[in-house]
Amino acid sequence: MTRQGGIARVDLPAGAHRDTLAVREGLPRTPWGENSEALFLTSSFVHPSAASAAARFANEEEAFVYSRFGNPTVAMMERRLAALEGTEACIGTASGMAAILLLVMGLLKGGDHVVCSHSVFGSTIRLLQDFGRFGVETTFVSQTDVAEWRAALRPNTKLLFAETPSNPLTEVCDIRALADIAHGHGALLAVDNCFCTPALQRPRELGADLIVHSGTKYLDGQGRVVAGAVCADEAVVDGKLVPVMRSAGMSLSPFNAWVVLKGLETLAIRMQAQSARALELAQWLQAQPQVERVYHPGMSTHPQHALAMTQQGGVGGPVLSFVVRGTGAEAARRHAFAVIDATRICSITANLGDTKTTITHPASTSHGRLTEAQRQAAGIVQGLIRVAVGLEHVDDLKADLARGLATITA
Ligand SMILES: *Cc1c(COP(=O)(O)O)cnc(C)c1O
Repeated sequence: MTRQGGIARVDLPAGAHRDTLAVREGLPRTPWGENSEALFLTSSFVHPSAASAAARFANEEEAFVYSRFGNPTVAMMERRLAALEGTEACIGTASGMAAILLLVMGLLKGGDHVVCSHSVFGSTIRLLQDFGRFGVETTFVSQTDVAEWRAALRPNTKLLFAETPSNPLTEVCDIRALADIAHGHGALLAVDNCFCTPALQRPRELGADLIVHSGTKYLDGQGRVVAGAVCADEAVVDGKLVPVMRSAGMSLSPFNAWVVLKGLETLAIRMQAQSARALELAQWLQAQPQVERVYHPGMSTHPQHALAMTQQGGVGGPVLSFVVRGTGAEAARRHAFAVIDATRICSITANLGDTKTTITHPASTSHGRLTEAQRQAAGIVQGLIRVAVGLEHVDDLKADLARGLATITA
């Protein structure tokens, strides 16, 4: 089954670069000749005749029918994101979690087995665990130890699921090694590319079969909408995912698709600029006496620095974490809260992917539901602070963090 109402291809010169695709792909103009992408806020589409409606419902004639499974603005976003990821196709979803739900529903059935890093997004872990009720079992393994992934394979393993770099410790996994393991076993590799986006990291080129996105983060880039997408070959998108979307309806709203579509135009320059600020801030933090440890893949001290640099186009990404000193968990937590509360620029929010820098205390927010022992094992200590760096001047961000750090006496 193909999606009804595909959009016309844009006639771009062969070999056009990604920067060009980011602003030009996915804009088939209407007869009005608009220069900016049109927003089609319509739930259904009108047919010229009853016979034509019948043909379209029977999938014998290409046309948009109903926005649960096809809308021109959503199709434009899908075309543009697919071009950036280097996949044949893409399907937009209501959120990042809806993208993962669609992927699981489309690809797996009761009796299948999944191998997943235990450092992926918390809701991803819960969703995969929930699918245990439907007979899909998941084994969670180390983010960085490839041997653990291989050892976890079972005859019924159908999917490997990875996310890199991880949140909040920026641990990097080797996409090409995981793709080789998956393919050697007849399984697929899905990569959540939320933290790097195709501007820095293209999992498809490294062998991944499916790329998952929370469009809520860097693809929108300005913290406005919740959105998601799955990028893959046409056979997977049209054959496995579209039929689920048609009946299950985790559809992306045209308005949210439009916001993401426009966000993609500035994605590459935002990712470069925010990553450069993040690296400078990370290096500055490392030199502060009140800071015990800094996590950022761009730093030469990062355990997977070399891998990150080849896999992420030489860029560490916009997210960093750091641990403030404190004797004992309670003091560390007090110090972390003091640093966060002393900021006047950073937004205190667990969200990320915004031009506005966000700051959060993972141990009491995103990882608050874990036990202290689980947190310790995962490295989510009480002194840990995550910063998702935006576009403010880096000197202002340093001053914002220095204010709280100055109050810490070890
Ligand atoms: C936020 C996030 C998600 C979930 O996306 P939503 O759009 O919030 O549903 C999935 N994976 C990662 C890595 C995320 O950061």
